[in-house]
Amino acid sequence: MQTSGSRLIDAVPPTWSRPRPSEVDRLLEYLPMGWKVVVQPEAKMGGLWGACWWFPLQEIWLCARDPDAMKASLVHEIGHARLPPGEGHSPGWAALCRLIWREVLGEDRPGFVENVGCHVGW
Ligand SMILES: [Zn+2]
Repeated sequence: MQTSGSRLIDAVPPTWSRPRPSEVDRLLEYLPMGWKVVVQPEAKMGGLWGACWWFPLQEIWLCARDPDAMKASLVHEIGHARLPPGEGHSPGWAALCRLIWREVLGEDRPGFVENVGCHVGW
């Protein structure tokens, strides 16, 4: 015997359900509290693909370019933002990036290490 609650759920067409979160949404779940991501034009980035600004901005800047490259830079910069300033491209940073990469983008996708055009501010 069905309850009225389950009949209601059965009546909801599948197209009403929330779409799965995108890779970008899932990457942003790793962004530390209080931080934001700003997409900047190439001219403002001066040849960099990403930048991480701790104090006082707490901002990650990404250069506007192709989406897969921007996702790679986002992983790279979130790795910086989650660690103390001065950590740089340390083995700990690389391990954290690898973990986020594997969780969201999958094991087989080419790596974040190609995206080292970055500035780590303070
Ligand atoms: Zn970096």
